[in-house]
Amino acid sequence: MSVASPLLRDNPQRAEWRDALLNDYTLAVITLGGVVAVVWLAPFAVYRALTANWLAAVTDAFLAVTIGAAAWYAWRTRDTRWPGWVMAVAIVTGLWAIGFAAQFAALFWAYPGVLMNFFLVPAPAAALLGAAAVVGAAALSWQELGGTEGLPFFVITNVLTGLFGYLVSQQAHRRIERWQALSLFDPLTGVGNRRLMEAEFAQAFGCGCPAGVLAVLDVDHFKAINDNHGHEAGDAVLRDIAAVLQSSLRKTDRLYRFGGEEFVVWLGQGDAAAAAAVLERIRQGVHERVCIAERAVTLSAGVAVHTAPESWQSCLARADAALYRAKREGRDRVCWALPGEGEKGRT
Ligand code: GH3
Ligand code: MG
Ligand code: MG
Repeated sequence: MSVASPLLRDNPQRAEWRDALLNDYTLAVITLGGVVAVVWLAPFAVYRALTANWLAAVTDAFLAVTIGAAAWYAWRTRDTRWPGWVMAVAIVTGLWAIGFAAQFAALFWAYPGVLMNFFLVPAPAAALLGAAAVVGAAALSWQELGGTEGLPFFVITNVLTGLFGYLVSQQAHRRIERWQALSLFDPLTGVGNRRLMEAEFAQAFGCGCPAGVLAVLDVDHFKAINDNHGHEAGDAVLRDIAAVLQSSLRKTDRLYRFGGEEFVVWLGQGDAAAAAAVLERIRQGVHERVCIAERAVTLSAGVAVHTAPESWQSCLARADAALYRAKREGRDRVCWALPGEGEKGRT
């Protein structure tokens, strides 16, 4: 039996960094840029300064600082939008500077630059920035490229690199979108699933401030619908209900399928009176617009107002307790959590 040394054991921080790099290709490319900035450009800036090549020193220092700062910001915030743009523009500036300095060997930086842009900014912008970088560098280094003899090779190989970047980045992008749709949305009703709800609540309810109103909605006698009309008819009812819910909510409200025939509505904006109006509109809308074999389908709701710094789980438990009261009191109604109702350790 072998015992893993503490050094080999996966530490949680390292695992988180690895996950971030593997899951977010923009962050990975920005990190690569940051490494190049620190390991390559920064020492070169010093070397150029020592050899009194001031233009190259200033350019290398500027690129090292901009790309390094973009990478630092991306890691701190996990927001890669602005760092991506900063790095993409820095790549173009860098290639123009190389062209201006007429350094033939440094023109090879064009290939990773053109490729990386497709993973940093949207494809049309990446194509435009890449074209600007290559055309600018080629025009400024016309002589070094061998004039009309070398130019076609430089341009065509860069276009191919760009096309490769475009294809791979678009495929990655589509796969990520599909994966997100599959993992975060309910395939039957199209609304967010429990995983999305938990992720959004962890963020919104974690800041220690009031986060609005939570409601748990449960279809009345749904088992009987399945038993009497079949599972497919039950599925159609769930889809109809989700459509009514979505059409009754405001832009700022969020809807999730919690599981089975239960939905959660999060009304993060506005006061309790506004939330009550929305929930009553939902109850009435389902009663009037969803039916099976000419019988109205109804739902019951339990509602709780979030009180900071309460956890979302506790708030949802109070809403759930109110839902059970709505069922006991006859269904097709909205009940608000009473003081102490559903709180841990109480009945
Ligand atoms: P109540 O008014 O007390 O809520 O009664 P109910 O019959 O709605 O509650 P119960 O929990 O007994 O039944 C829920 C049913 O929902 C049981 C389950 O088979 C059905 N169900 C859960 N998920 C789905 C689904 O995706 N499609 C369909 N058609 N039925 C589902
Ligand atoms: Mg239920
Ligand atoms: Mg039910």
